[in-house]
Amino acid sequence: MVPGDLQRYKKRLLEKQQELLFPEPDGDTAVPRAGGPEGDLIDQANADAEAELQISLHQADSHLLRAIDEALARMRHGTYGVCEVCQQPIPKVRLEAVPWARRCRDCKEQEHPAA
Ligand SMILES: [Zn+2]
Repeated sequence: MVPGDLQRYKKRLLEKQQELLFPEPDGDTAVPRAGGPEGDLIDQANADAEAELQISLHQADSHLLRAIDEALARMRHGTYGVCEVCQQPIPKVRLEAVPWARRCRDCKEQEHPAA
């Protein structure tokens, strides 16, 4: 791996990490909810669905944060950009799209053929 590439991926990993750890305060979640003071059952159901959505988003974020952490650790150990299954270099185009990728595309597709 070219050192310049490595630095670029590292920068992108750190930026994404910051984004997940410190989300912009004026994001969608900060929009005040419109609704009457009576709060009928339909509003309650919508609120529940929203809460569940927030939880699943949060789980996706923590999963991603862990993947980013692991990618940064691999950079320290000098094993970044190598597929953990076939030990071949992960193609640059894939790292550009997913800098925290642990596997090359072939190995990932073999693990989840339907995905
Ligand atoms: Zn592979």
